[in-house]
Amino acid sequence: MTGGTDHDVVVCGAGVAGLSAACALGRLGHRVLVLEKRPVPQPVAKGEVLQPGSLAVLREWGVADRLEAAGALRLEHLVARAADGTPRMLLDYGRLPTPQPWLLAHDYPTILATLAETLPPSVEVRRGALVEDLLRTGDRVTGVRVDGAELRVPLVVAADGTSSRLRRAAGLTAPRRDYPHRLAAFELDGPDGTVPADFSAYVTDGGLRLRYPLPGGRIRLYVQVAPDELRGLGPDGLRAWADRVLDGCPGLAPLAGAFRAGVDRRQVLPVSRALAPALAVPGLALVGESGHLVHPMAAQGMNSSIADAHTLATVLRQGGSLRPGVLDHALRRYDTARRHDLHHIGRTSHNAARMITDRSWIGDRALTGTGGNARIRHEVMHTMSGLGIRRLTPVDRLHQIGVLPDPRAARLPGWARAASGSGAAAR
Ligand SMILES: Cc1cc2nc3c(=O)[nH]c(=O)nc-3n(C[C@H](O)[C@H](O)[C@H](O)COP(=O)(O)OP(=O)(O)OC[C@H]3O[C@@H](n4cnc5c(N)ncnc54)[C@H](O)[C@@H]3O)c2cc1C
Repeated sequence: MTGGTDHDVVVCGAGVAGLSAACALGRLGHRVLVLEKRPVPQPVAKGEVLQPGSLAVLREWGVADRLEAAGALRLEHLVARAADGTPRMLLDYGRLPTPQPWLLAHDYPTILATLAETLPPSVEVRRGALVEDLLRTGDRVTGVRVDGAELRVPLVVAADGTSSRLRRAAGLTAPRRDYPHRLAAFELDGPDGTVPADFSAYVTDGGLRLRYPLPGGRIRLYVQVAPDELRGLGPDGLRAWADRVLDGCPGLAPLAGAFRAGVDRRQVLPVSRALAPALAVPGLALVGESGHLVHPMAAQGMNSSIADAHTLATVLRQGGSLRPGVLDHALRRYDTARRHDLHHIGRTSHNAARMITDRSWIGDRALTGTGGNARIRHEVMHTMSGLGIRRLTPVDRLHQIGVLPDPRAARLPGWARAASGSGAAAR
């Protein structure tokens, strides 16, 4: 069966990347069909923290306000802490030059449901629809095969996640580099008022412990583990393991009871990084984890997916049509703009992950050096927030690891001085 003049765009996948692309392209007036293989979204512990750059986009779409109405939490600090809880690097998001200078935390299924509720009327979502392959005419992608039927459209958006079938069908490889550890995710019933409402990464001899609050008094805790660390542990073994984690991270003491009670309910997630060599071919764009993957430690993945969708809509609007020549020019611009930013985001996330997870001498020096240098710390925060890439120079890297003293360490970047008034002191 062949068909498909009813839609301008097919989006494959209804994760945050696919729904964001559908929203952004639907708002341009395109008729968008989203195809999602799962009949209902999976309840997974990932993608819960939104950065200010994404919040600006989500506010425009009416999503951020709905998330706040649904109980999303504002977190004003991102802190790297010593095992006992002492701050080693504090990123004060309140200093960012944006109307929403905070991180926003909610469950991934709620973020997806909220995006789905705000889709424009020109978007249709079909669940339980497996996209099997791309259709081509010469070098051009001209549609998809879904459940045995052929759908022809000017533009296909691959938002089918890290193992993307469509990326492979387009001949694009994105070799994954695995980190040597995994993250065990726990959802705890938090003790009231005893845990600061921030995004805190503890650097311990056992690696990363990451915690932040979720709505309803819950706490998300990630514990870095070796691939087989939890395999085969029964209830007693798990409790003993939880005690070792708590002993090695006294800063988590307020969560001890909740952690012991919730230690048998966990998801263990592999962590990797990747960036496809191209994010578009004629007729096809990759968005989200089909094109790129970062360590979750710096809360960038979902935010990059939203930025992909926003950038794709911007270049398509400027092109003004989905005719092949115009579309291909827009897709080349999308590819160039996003790969540039994603390269930096990947590097920032990787450096942040190494500082905290690999417990190397250099990582430790870099954390201390960044924490003690107000100028570099602010530039790192600006890049992480999604408000714009602030490059660090090779000399800055030497300042970070303490090899070269930085005479400008206390001098805030221009944007931070402007945001907080001329008399701003470094903190
Ligand atoms: C532990 C962890 C914590 C994280 N925390 C954060 C965070 O705090 N902040 C942040 O910004 N990011 C975070 N991330 C990253 C973030 O979760 C991902 O970047 C984001 O979810 C990627 O969204 P996506 O839409 O690209 O992929 P997915 O969410 O994987 O969605 C892909 C969708 O495509 C569907 N699909 C796949 N194949 C097909 C097919 N052939 N046909 C039809 N449908 C198909 C799938 O069913 C799925 O629904 C975290 C990741 C992990 C692992």
